[in-house]
Amino acid sequence: MDCIFCKIISGDIPAYKVYEDEHTLAFLDITQGTRGHTLLIPKKHVKNIYALDDDTASNIFKAVPKVAQALKKAFTPIGLNIINNNDKPHQSVFHFHIHLIPRYENDGMVLKTINHQDDYKKQDFLEIQAAIKQAL
Ligand code: AMP
Ligand code: ZN
Repeated sequence: MDCIFCKIISGDIPAYKVYEDEHTLAFLDITQGTRGHTLLIPKKHVKNIYALDDDTASNIFKAVPKVAQALKKAFTPIGLNIINNNDKPHQSVFHFHIHLIPRYENDGMVLKTINHQDDYKKQDFLEIQAAIKQAL
């Protein structure tokens, strides 16, 4: 399969691996958005969050705190962001992965939610709630 992360798992291309267990692998993101920027992936090739089966989800998310704790211990960041991009244009590698991004003072990263609360009335919240509940 022509998947760059599968090739990292198989060892066909190199990566700076930091953690590995039976089901997951963590390695440094080549862009180092901040110092210590790490990707955590399942060894099973799964395209993205929508394709994740329960066992793979359990295995991968179980490893998140472990890597987060290591980043906190290693770099003493002031914070840590966890990001997962799904589908184009935000997802560029189509093997599920979780970004762990340590945060530092003035690190230049822009990862912030926007407060649109003033644009939403109670009726809007009720409609949104109903749409999600119906879809589940
Ligand atoms: P996303 O945009 O969420 O799909 O992120 C994919 C990430 O994979 C990007 O941050 C890339 O820098 C990273 N990436 C792509 N190829 C490699 C590689 N060979 N080694 C390490 N990181 C990579
Ligand atoms: Zn893959």
